[in-house]
Parts: sequence; C-alpha cells; structure tokens
Amino acid sequence: MHETVSLGRIAGVRVAANWSLLIIAALIAETLAVSVLPATAAGRPAAEYWVASVAAAVAFLAGVLAHELAHAIVARRCGIRVDSITLWMLGGVTRLDGDPPTPRDDLRVAVAGPAASAGIGLVCLLLAVGLRGMAPVVLVAALQWLGAINVLLALFNLLPGAPLDGGRLLRAVIWQRTGDRARAAVHAARAGRVVGFGLVSLGVVEVAVTADVGGIWLMLVGWFLLVTARAEERHAGLRNLLVGVQVRDVMTSDPLCGPDWLSVQAFLDSVVRTARFTAFPLRGVDGRPSGLVTLHDLARVAPARRVEVRVGTVGTPLAAVPTAGPDEPLIDVIDRLGVDSQARPVLVVADDQLVGILTSGDISAAVQKAALADPVRSGPGGSAELSLPETVIRRS
Ligand SMILES: [Zn+2]
Repeated sequence: MHETVSLGRIAGVRVAANWSLLIIAALIAETLAVSVLPATAAGRPAAEYWVASVAAAVAFLAGVLAHELAHAIVARRCGIRVDSITLWMLGGVTRLDGDPPTPRDDLRVAVAGPAASAGIGLVCLLLAVGLRGMAPVVLVAALQWLGAINVLLALFNLLPGAPLDGGRLLRAVIWQRTGDRARAAVHAARAGRVVGFGLVSLGVVEVAVTADVGGIWLMLVGWFLLVTARAEERHAGLRNLLVGVQVRDVMTSDPLCGPDWLSVQAFLDSVVRTARFTAFPLRGVDGRPSGLVTLHDLARVAPARRVEVRVGTVGTPLAAVPTAGPDEPLIDVIDRLGVDSQARPVLVVADDQLVGILTSGDISAAVQKAALADPVRSGPGGSAELSLPETVIRRS
C-alpha cells in the first residue's frame, strides 16, 4: 500500500489515504447519482442527485474513518500505541504497535469499529425517518442509504474471520477460553480463509447468475481476505513457535568484523579471502560498529581502483543497516523488518558494541528447530517455508 497522501493527525493518530480511495469514492457517487437516488426519490433534476451523491460518498468515507478511529482510540485506552490509519479502496487499516494485553482488551478494540459504524448507521436512519416530509426528498434518500450502508458495514466486519473485526472477536473469545493467544490467532486466521473463500464463491455465483459487476467487487474483497488471512495464519504460527526466543539465542556471536579504513584491496586480502561469508560488519577506529559491506558492494569497485577506495565508503553506513538488541524477542525483530528486509543481515548491537549478526538463514534455522522440537505447536501447514513472513497488514 504505497502512494498514500497524509491527511494529518486526527485525535493524535496519523491518518493517510491511498489514491485508490478515489476509485471507490467515484464508484459510490456514480452508483448513487445514476441509480440509487433516482429510484428512491424520483423526479428530481440530475444536478440535485449528483450534489447529494458526492456529499453522501464523502460522508461514507468519513464513516469508514470514524470506524477506524474507534479502533484506534479504544486501543490507545488499552495502552497500545497506534501507529497510523490508512484508508484505501477496500476500507481502512489501523496499524497498532503491539497487541492487546488481555482477551478482554482484544475484544474491546475489535468491537469498537463495528459499534461506531452501527451507531452512525442508526443515527442516519433515525434522521431519515424524522426528516421525512420536512427535508428535500433527495436528502432523505441519501440519509437512508448512508444509514443502511453503515449498518451493513458493521455486519460485514463482524463476519467471524481475521483480518475482519469478527475474526479479532473470535480470537479474543478463543483466547479467553484457552488462555493461548497465539493458537487463538491461528484459528481466527483459518476462519478468515473460510470467510474469504465464501465471499469469492458468492461473487462468482453473483456474476454467473445475475451478470452484475457487483459480484466482481465481492470476489475482490474475498480474495483480499484470503491472502491476508493466509499471511496472518503464517505469522501467528511463527509467533506461536518463537515464544520466548530472543535474538541472542539465534544470532551468530562475535562475527568477523573488518576495519572500515582499509582499502578495498587490503580488505579483500586480509578479511574476505579466508572467510566463507557474503556480508561483513565494519568497525571504525574507535572500535564501534560503523556499517556493513557485502561481496556485492565490493564487486562494484573496479579492480584498478581497489587500492585507493576505502571499504567504508562502498558499504552501507550503520544508520541504514537494520539493528537489533540481543535481548529483543526474535518475533519483534521479524515484525519490524517486515517485507523490506529481504535477505539483509541484522547487526546485533549492545552498548555501542557489535555482539552478533543475524541472517535470514539464522532465523530460518531457528524456526525449523523450534518446529522440530514442538511439532504440536507448529501445527499442520508446517513452518519450514517460513523465512521472513510477509506481514503486509500487521495486527490491524
Ligand atoms: Zn474494523
């Protein structure tokens, strides 16, 4: 989800919108102006329909934002830092920096969004009823639509499968019953795959039977749920396996570390030649870690220039290298690095000193060992394929 524009802060939460939001806004306005409003409030000029439709589309998106803000505000009350809210084509995503501490909090955060949507929906419906005969018919029709769509939004989000709010609710309930959050998350994600599959199937049937393009939308939403639920299931499985594993348990201690003031040629001769690694931490004259250089970086220097170029200038400076503390839970580091980590090693630093290096191979090995030690917790579906998970949506 790139190409977002910031909408500033609301109630202290960073809010951004993806450009794809424009597509949904245009689609909603068009549907309202061309079919919904003329059907419920017939015989008005087209301009009137369009003004009401654009206003209703904007109000709908404001309702989606209110839904996400409700999640964010309740999460903050539970002591969780809220990273941001992003609105996009298929709704909103609230990113939380951490998990609700108890099943009760998990439930409260999950319920807040649908409760806000249902509340907004009911207010709009009541207004529509109250204003009938007093306000312009197009306004009443628009309020009626807004009311219905918000109630629908609440109900849809309560479908019991992650990443939908209903899935979070399911997770909270299973967590409360079993006391095992990680397993509860795995179950909720599996339910999400079922819900996603169900929606895709419904969409296919709708397109086949009614030839209505609305079915394509359903398929799209279902597909998104399927993919997200699958990623969540993997992540929950990983979290389950890595309970209690710290970076120091997995890292390679006292890695081969080269001086950053050497020339590339001297570095190749004295450090690289006898090593079997592809990446080397660098240290400055003060002994502190200063960055990382890979064989790939070194290969970019023309042989003729190897004696004059310093290795420190071709590597990646420390500020741009991912780092971790030795006592950090491994799963937190994996979460933090997320999708953009690829195969870059993580330098493990404590008190300004390099104490280890963590590669994707180290992580992969740790996961596989944990799975071997506890096949029950890893569950079906295994975890051998896990190196770095694609945490596209983290704990939304
Ligand atoms: Zn929600």
